[in-house]
Amino acid sequence: MRTLQTDVLVIGAGAAGLCAALAAAPRRVLVVSAADPRLASSTALAQGGIAAPLAAGDSVEAQMADTLAAGCHSSDRRAALRVIRGAAEAVSFLCDLGVHFDRDALGWRLHREGGHSRARVLHARGDRTGAAILSALLAAAASSEHIDLLSGLQVLALREGPAERLCGAWAVDGAGEAVRLEAHETVLATGGVGRLFPSTTNGRAAEGDGLAMALGHGARVAGLEFVQFHPTALAAGADPLPLLTEALRGAGAVLRDGHGERFMVAMHPLAELAPRDVVAREVWSRRARGESVWLDATGVFASEHAEEFPAALALCRAHGIDPLREAIPVSAAAHYHMGGVVVDTLGRSTRSGLWACGEVAFTGMHGANRLASNSLLEAVVCGRTVGHALAREHNPQRHIRVQIEQEVPPPLHTDAQISGQVRSIVGRCLGPVRRGSELEQGGRDLAALRAQLAPGALLERRRLELAQAMVRAALERRESRGAHWREDYPQRDPAHDAA
Ligand SMILES: Cc1cc2nc3c(=O)[nH]c(=O)nc-3n(C[C@H](O)[C@H](O)[C@H](O)COP(=O)(O)OP(=O)(O)OC[C@H]3O[C@@H](n4cnc5c(N)ncnc54)[C@H](O)[C@@H]3O)c2cc1C
Repeated sequence: MRTLQTDVLVIGAGAAGLCAALAAAPRRVLVVSAADPRLASSTALAQGGIAAPLAAGDSVEAQMADTLAAGCHSSDRRAALRVIRGAAEAVSFLCDLGVHFDRDALGWRLHREGGHSRARVLHARGDRTGAAILSALLAAAASSEHIDLLSGLQVLALREGPAERLCGAWAVDGAGEAVRLEAHETVLATGGVGRLFPSTTNGRAAEGDGLAMALGHGARVAGLEFVQFHPTALAAGADPLPLLTEALRGAGAVLRDGHGERFMVAMHPLAELAPRDVVAREVWSRRARGESVWLDATGVFASEHAEEFPAALALCRAHGIDPLREAIPVSAAAHYHMGGVVVDTLGRSTRSGLWACGEVAFTGMHGANRLASNSLLEAVVCGRTVGHALAREHNPQRHIRVQIEQEVPPPLHTDAQISGQVRSIVGRCLGPVRRGSELEQGGRDLAALRAQLAPGALLERRRLELAQAMVRAALERRESRGAHWREDYPQRDPAHDAA
């Protein structure tokens, strides 16, 4: 069995994990990821961009107002303020690393997305923003002496050390061998939970592992019921479903029903640019009734905006659709998790030695619904906050080994079939429109599945327990708020508003 020792272990090599690792210098950091992050992180897939109040006439207060409105009276104001105040510095940090955000003759070329009251979303390489950010962060990590980066290590469990402190993790490598990762500090940066759903825009890595492990080790979690669905995934039968960025609607694309009518105009004053939950619910409900929904971007692709959407154009063409001439079939798909591991202002979880940042963390900023393009921002700002806090605690005298007496590796069995069944149960009861009876049935189905689980299939057990916790949270929230919509409780209950 291999043992790797490090001072700080970062699990996940997306925007959050890499920002934490870079900022943690001079501490020795090992970043591990289950797969090549260029192929398997949400960061690599992010198209739309990163929101920052950089335009003349825009302000931190204006982005705050939009963030709180999208969050539906549930956001933690102080967390949102901290992140949005950090936006300008985050953008200049990324620029210094070589990210070329798109500009025009007037300065930043800013885009408008759903829920934003003005254009404030920066793109890089058109709609390939996430990939541009990730490649700059990976290059910086590769040239940083304090960082080692290993992909192909799937973390299965955290290590319980002396004095109730977590001290690293257990992983399995590509050959199926156990690897012990010894560390003084462990940072979860494992991204979201989209893969718990049958229809998702999230790639392979977003299985909810970090959140499931934190839950299993008794860290406090919150907001589990709040899952954002993206209204315009390309209905191509692929897995994951390719995303058609919201910026297309910002540039003028419209949603049409099977008769060619624009249905969102009657639903919300902002029509197609209404908050995501509103648009996603409408798209989902129509498709659940057997209707088709189409994104008409012909006007966008015929305009000067066309060059801003190379990824969307390529995606459509790869699926035999010519978006210059025809509307694109779309459906709603699980996209972003507002819930996560509860962290304090520095990113510390409630378990000693365990930190979290990015989508796996719950800062409270997004409340019941994330504002578009606030998540890359949060990943960069909070990742760096965690890294800086770790750097401040640097102690060069500290011994690198963290040994535990009589430590036994966790079982390494897998039970792939169970994951498929969890996905279909979750898809039936935790979609954008929920009902108490379906949630109760989902809870019973998950409990029955748990009884069939192969002994020792640790990761699958954790994922199943996470799904159960999400169903419980959705059942207990007897109201509709943001991304959590209960048909049996359609009103918001002001008693649950954030103070
Ligand atoms: C299609 C798509 C488009 C998006 N567009 C935007 C956008 O335009 N703007 C925006 O702000 N947000 C967008 N988002 C959301 C945003 O991309 C994510 O919230 C953000 O990138 C999350 O970053 P992260 O570092 O927390 O996680 P990720 O980038 O997902 O990285 C997670 C890392 O954890 C690793 N990992 C997971 N489980 C394990 C395990 N068990 N063991 C080891 N490693 C593990 C993965 O391999 C990966 O390296 C989009 C998301 C998707 C899916």
